[in-house]
Amino acid sequence: MPKQVLSIPALMKLLTSEAAAYELLEDLRWRGEPVCPHCGTIDRATYIQPVNGTSRATRTGRPSERRVWKCNACRKQFTVLVGTIFHGTKISIRTWVLVLLEMCASKNGISAREIERKYDLTAKSAWFMAHRIREAMKTDPLAGLMRGTIIADETWVGGDPANRHGDGPGYGRTDKQPVMALIDYETREVRSRVIPDVTGRTLATVLRDEVEVKRSQLWTDESSSYRSIGEEFNSHHKVNHNAGEYKRDGAGTNLAEGYFSQLKRSIDGTHHHVSVEHLGRYLAHFDFLYTHCRASDSERMIGLLQRVGGRRLTYKPLTASVAG
Ligand SMILES: [Zn+2]
Repeated sequence: MPKQVLSIPALMKLLTSEAAAYELLEDLRWRGEPVCPHCGTIDRATYIQPVNGTSRATRTGRPSERRVWKCNACRKQFTVLVGTIFHGTKISIRTWVLVLLEMCASKNGISAREIERKYDLTAKSAWFMAHRIREAMKTDPLAGLMRGTIIADETWVGGDPANRHGDGPGYGRTDKQPVMALIDYETREVRSRVIPDVTGRTLATVLRDEVEVKRSQLWTDESSSYRSIGEEFNSHHKVNHNAGEYKRDGAGTNLAEGYFSQLKRSIDGTHHHVSVEHLGRYLAHFDFLYTHCRASDSERMIGLLQRVGGRRLTYKPLTASVAG
């Protein structure tokens, strides 16, 4: 499908029916060559025409517009949803695609409450949808280590606004959570994660996990926590905020400051409160938007649709930590 067809208005026009939404997903995921999710055979499946031409009967007796294929190798049937974050959903695929696009397009993200209102869903469905999409936004575990000029920084995020006094962990009662971000200066790829504390040992562990340290340059502020791990890098540049170097040197940690301020604005303004349990998924969303900020909204969406497979998130692990 040509890229220019997928502007947001064009996409809205394409999504006239549930079957059209399936076809769009098929185009984006398979590029004309259906992949059997059961045996992995590529482009040897036959589309099964619905008996009455438009919809097929389901077990519940309600007509369904889902598009079903049959694999000529293993003889099993499948749809484009099998094995993806959409698998088993009762929400229309048309709604899924529109919400997915909004989550790829909006700079500040979109809250589950907005999804609920706009698409007339239950609070539970909207919340679950948003989290499933964020799950797909997580960095690919096979992405490999970062390498190059890596900016590292930490901040405190979240917490209930009612408890907010001051801006650090030392101010009264707080449930803010430390977060560390690594940004590749050249590509702008960002990987952030929730960390238990900001000790040198923790920061070093994250850096060794994510970066090819010996072949990279590290940029940090003057925090002594980076001193030891900094020696493992090819070089370590410390930006002295007090001496005005922060302002002078664009390559410094102010990229990380920018990332953090946008993250905090969004959490405060759009989501209002993010619990510690779910903060990791919100970070995945922001990392995804920031990393792909040079792409168009629809390019981001297409990129994400390539990654929806193999990340099915069931309701149980997601809700297990919600109580309380
Ligand atoms: Zn098969």
